[in-house]
Amino acid sequence: PAERPAFETTGLGVRYRRNWALRDCTVSVPAGRVVALVGPNGAGKTTLLHTLVGLLRPDAGVARLFGGDVASDENMLARMAFVAQDKPLYDYFTVAEMLRFGRELNPRWDGDFARARVNGLGIPLSRKVGKLSGGQRAQVAITMALAKRPDLLVLDEPLASLDPLARDDVMRALMGTVAETGTTVLMSSHVVSDLVDTCDWLVVLNGGQVQVSGDIDELLACHRVLSGPAGLA
Ligand code: ATP
Repeated sequence: PAERPAFETTGLGVRYRRNWALRDCTVSVPAGRVVALVGPNGAGKTTLLHTLVGLLRPDAGVARLFGGDVASDENMLARMAFVAQDKPLYDYFTVAEMLRFGRELNPRWDGDFARARVNGLGIPLSRKVGKLSGGQRAQVAITMALAKRPDLLVLDEPLASLDPLARDDVMRALMGTVAETGTTVLMSSHVVSDLVDTCDWLVVLNGGQVQVSGDIDELLACHRVLSGPAGLA
């Protein structure tokens, strides 16, 4: 049978006090995709990601990973790894110590993979995390997440605060790894052009609701028809 969607929400609502950040948010994305979650500031991207990774609880509706309700099924959360926007790491640890820490915390930790990836990126294991460049810090944070061997990798604004060269490096390394492992990726940006070339599925969020979700090539073909010579636009 076909695998259940990597993630899906049905009528999802999340509020901060009386302010609904997500309202009747419904979306479903198959496994194996590299998904761009885009939308303007305040659209609810971080709220949606935090709900999918179990940091926030739905106030209405349901959020599922691989068919399991994230509010009640811890096993589903174990299949996911999350890279938060500020990429929290311990600045006074060396990269090697950071990786050892990951091994302590995660039963599924793949230490050989983590060391090989960091070495391959030319990041010195003896360097203190606080001394890394922004791009290297992002690479280490992403490696820490991938070393858990997740079926779904979730990244909140992974390119924010990186310079253009570092953006290219981080994206190229990430796409190289997920092409090998087949990991489903969900990443957010408020800049559509940052992600559209690398992703194959697009979710547009606005005002706490999903406006568009689909295969990017199909969406672009649709756009060409609508805006072409015989089109509507
Ligand atoms: P950005 O790109 O600015 O991070 P976003 O699309 O990630 O935006 P969210 O951060 O999810 O959007 O915010 C959605 C809405 O919820 C906004 O109106 C925001 O002001 C509100 N909000 C977010 N976090 C909180 C909070 N901790 N307390 C109160 N309101 C919040």
